[in-house]
Amino acid sequence: MSIVVQKFGGSSVGTPEKMKRVAKRVMETRQQGHDVAVVVSAMGDTTDDLISLAAQLSDDPSEREMDMLLSTGEQISISLLAMTLTSMGCQAVSLTGRQAGFRTDVAYSRAKILTIDNQRVLEEFAKGNVVVVAGFQGVDERGEVHTLGRGGSDTSAVALAIALDAEMCEIYTDVNGVYTADPRVVKKAQKMDEVSYDEMLEMAVMGAVVLQPRSVELAKEHELKLHVRSSYNYTEGTIVKEDAKMNKDLEKEMIVVGVAHDLNVLKASIFGVPDRPGVACELFAAWADEGVNVDMIIQSGSPDQRQDISFTCARNDKNKCQKVLSAFVRSLPADSYSLVDTMAKISAVGAGMITHTGVAATMFRTLYENGINIDMIATSEIRISCIIDERDVNKAAVALHTAFGLDAE
Ligand code: ADP
Ligand code: ASP
Ligand code: MG
Repeated sequence: MSIVVQKFGGSSVGTPEKMKRVAKRVMETRQQGHDVAVVVSAMGDTTDDLISLAAQLSDDPSEREMDMLLSTGEQISISLLAMTLTSMGCQAVSLTGRQAGFRTDVAYSRAKILTIDNQRVLEEFAKGNVVVVAGFQGVDERGEVHTLGRGGSDTSAVALAIALDAEMCEIYTDVNGVYTADPRVVKKAQKMDEVSYDEMLEMAVMGAVVLQPRSVELAKEHELKLHVRSSYNYTEGTIVKEDAKMNKDLEKEMIVVGVAHDLNVLKASIFGVPDRPGVACELFAAWADEGVNVDMIIQSGSPDQRQDISFTCARNDKNKCQKVLSAFVRSLPADSYSLVDTMAKISAVGAGMITHTGVAATMFRTLYENGINIDMIATSEIRISCIIDERDVNKAAVALHTAFGLDAE
């Protein structure tokens, strides 16, 4: 019997009605004769609700207790889905991350899956069960619960599919697949039939939350194809794979394949840093020690031998940044620091950029023509990103989508 792994996101299991629809879908797959492992996320906005609940009780809750708390969201979903399946006559059992054999490293709120012992899941298959696994969680070697970062259920599903040698991993969500931009913001965004791992990864890192970046990385490493599709209908979604072909109407030479935006941007700056070797090393080592994932970095000099250094990271790293920056302003010493959480990142992604010029010029012209100021710029081989005011981000996404010829007819 072939093994299928299906993942249903929070929006797909947000209400009892939606849960029933998911159960029906899982049951249909089971009836086709597959062994089915289902990974589910917390219902609807449960994770956000738990975060705000914690914030009402503590200014600075420990990461350990936050992971204990957040992992419960997925546990509600698995038990409810398993009982729904059973009540429909489909034999099912729920397993937490720990029970399903997910071992992680030690990094609360952003753990990586090290191994999956698939024995328990295979035993449950042998008993004829559909196995419903809690996404977003695992345990370290001491049994401590760790979560995998926002959107982590995608990675749980991909990792489980690899551990079970599944043919395919299906990611069910609330849109029909991967689009050329967030379809909720850019109405003319087009669904892609296929997208390459590399382009998907850049899109995901740049804010296309439809897949967690780590899930794409893992799938690429193991050449596992992903099918991103809707849990609301049966239309074919998007296949994420190595050599992807564009849609017929997107086939004309595409340089940029997608536009991504990200509101989760915090800009941190430290001003008047002494211009001597080793300062940048010291600063960024401190952020690494705090587990802050630094994205764009700009250092600008001035004639008086002092430097300003700015970088971006996720907004929920604000407290950690504050701690490190205020300590450095005193110890270096530097003049001052600032933290700005009203910025956003807009990016154009496409492998065609390697061989084509002019993408940056088009991007900057389009932003200029729309009266949008660029604060920071960063590029990779297949991407250009700009930091802009968050109030301009939707306008920028729509305008760039048009400028790069991605609009649907
Ligand atoms: P789930 O609850 O299924 O995990 P998410 O909210 O994490 O769902 O991801 C799906 C959302 O991703 C969509 O509702 C859409 O708004 C957003 N999104 C952002 N960029 C894209 C894109 N390029 N293609 C498809 N969806 C995107
Ligand atoms: N529930 C977690 C989150 O909201 C994990 C996930 O949905 O993938 O980020
Ligand atoms: Mg998600």
